[in-house]
Amino acid sequence: MTMGKGEGSYLFDTDGRRYVDFCAGIATCCLGHCNPIVVNALCDQAHRLMHCSNLYTIGEQEKLAKLIVEDVIGIPGRVFFCNSGAEANDGIIKVARRFGHRRPAADGSPRYEVITFRKGFHGRTLGSMAATGQEKIQIEFDPMLIGFTYVDFNDLDGLRAAIRKETCGIMLEAIQGEGGVNPVKPEFLRAVAELCKEHDLLLMIDEVQCGFYRCGTPMGWMGVCPELKPDLVSCAKGIAGGFPMGCFWVSNRAINDEGTELASIMGPGSHGSTFGGTPLACATSYAVVSELVKGHYGERAKRMGEIIKSTVEGWQLPVVECVRGLGLLRGVALRRGSFSVPEGSTPSAYVNSLCMAAGLLCCPAGTDTLRIIPALNIPEEVLAEGLDILRGVLSQLA
Ligand SMILES: *Cc1c(COP(=O)(O)O)cnc(C)c1O
Repeated sequence: MTMGKGEGSYLFDTDGRRYVDFCAGIATCCLGHCNPIVVNALCDQAHRLMHCSNLYTIGEQEKLAKLIVEDVIGIPGRVFFCNSGAEANDGIIKVARRFGHRRPAADGSPRYEVITFRKGFHGRTLGSMAATGQEKIQIEFDPMLIGFTYVDFNDLDGLRAAIRKETCGIMLEAIQGEGGVNPVKPEFLRAVAELCKEHDLLLMIDEVQCGFYRCGTPMGWMGVCPELKPDLVSCAKGIAGGFPMGCFWVSNRAINDEGTELASIMGPGSHGSTFGGTPLACATSYAVVSELVKGHYGERAKRMGEIIKSTVEGWQLPVVECVRGLGLLRGVALRRGSFSVPEGSTPSAYVNSLCMAAGLLCCPAGTDTLRIIPALNIPEEVLAEGLDILRGVLSQLA
């Protein structure tokens, strides 16, 4: 299957066949394909200035950083721009390690270990892959970068037991996207924040998939625990409507009695990226993020997400266990053993392939969950059209 053209929440392959798009470039094309808001911002900026290097001030970057800090994250801090989610996570891991030098263990040795969670996903670089507690991501790429330890998601006793003198941070997604659309429990997330305070650890949230209104709130954690004050946040996917872009946010909070700001420990020269935050990427992202901020995309994502949940659960099909997630990050949990799966495939990959053949593009999440992550502006009738196709596929399985 080769895609030739996109239009809103439809994709067309090179043979001209039309698909309802519940995948949206894996949660990146948040305003749909070829949205004039995105295309015009990209083309206008391409005519003006594409790239000039970070040897100069990039006005588009300053404007975008201000918008993200003030209107999306809403907590004083600073932003570094990069090109992907994995780079953003490598960035926050570097901040955590530097923090571990500035705030060493009682014996003076630097702290460096970050606790992450099984079934989480943080990317494919050497750093973000090591942070990803899933064997299938790491297989035959060992030895892994040291300094990570994995705990079961939502297991508070396991987390407490994993904290040791080398620990400098705890990193998690509000909803594990790739790993099966597994939401964090609010009481667990609150406990993580308390443990971070108690042990002087950085609270690191990977918002690469959940962020930018996907889950019905500006950032995913806000729908779970709005009062949470993270130290580090990584973003990418939806940030620029399908244009490659990522960023990480660092809190301005003081890390010692002298009032040293956390963001200040990454001064000029400490990190960099040739292509990160080009005028082209920033102007495109600015158009997307300002549209998300001024539109009612969060409310819309919540409403459409509820439609997905109530519709799919309303079918009462034996192959569906439940629908998990928040906003427009949804997972249809398939019931193990309720249908047969070809050798070598998984329930989620198999059902995904049946949907593709029927004209619907979804995305597997883990082995047993079908992920629904459409554009945030998917029209209600296109959502209904896609759900009808899904019903046909799931009913036939049953
Ligand atoms: C996709 C994803 C990443 C990796 O992003 P890339 O842009 O593919 O490097 C990291 N974390 C989460 C939660 C993701 O969903």
